[in-house]
Amino acid sequence: MLINVAQMIVGPIGSVKDLDVDVELAVDEAVRPATIKGSLSLMRTDGGILVQGILAAVIGCTCVRCLTIFDYGFELEIEEEYVPVREASARTGRIVLEAEGLLIDSQNLLDLEPALREYAVLNAPLKPLCKPTCAGLCIQCGADLNRARCMCSPPPNGSSKDNQDQSSFVVARGQTA
Ligand SMILES: [Zn+2]
Ligand SMILES: [Zn+2]
Repeated sequence: MLINVAQMIVGPIGSVKDLDVDVELAVDEAVRPATIKGSLSLMRTDGGILVQGILAAVIGCTCVRCLTIFDYGFELEIEEEYVPVREASARTGRIVLEAEGLLIDSQNLLDLEPALREYAVLNAPLKPLCKPTCAGLCIQCGADLNRARCMCSPPPNGSSKDNQDQSSFVVARGQTA
């Protein structure tokens, strides 16, 4: 997503321009491209262009419990300053800025994509759940327990716990006797 900032770069410090964002980005962690939408403000600073704003992102995730693919929505709070390559070359930080994709190139183009992708990756859930109460898959037959109970033997419940308590009580009494 290339933004031409030629006019802003020659404009006065403090001048502001709004930018509508509506992009699809391939993100490694997501099963399909992330959609990122919203509005950013670009402000001319003494060093370059400050990009700020909150964007809404939606990525396709795979639930770690039931393996369903679902849409996960979250916000990206963007704040990055981009520096023109000509000014940056006079500074020592050029290589760092280049690596982070925070340079405005010699054609006055600013590429938002690397930053948006990084924010999306950083804010995406590490262990996505389709819902907090997701029941997951049966470890024996693989059935999705959110949809239906399977015929496998149920996990230990209240009654078998009572039996355990009783037997340990018997053992304890046997030892004291
Ligand atoms: Zn799930
Ligand atoms: Zn089962």
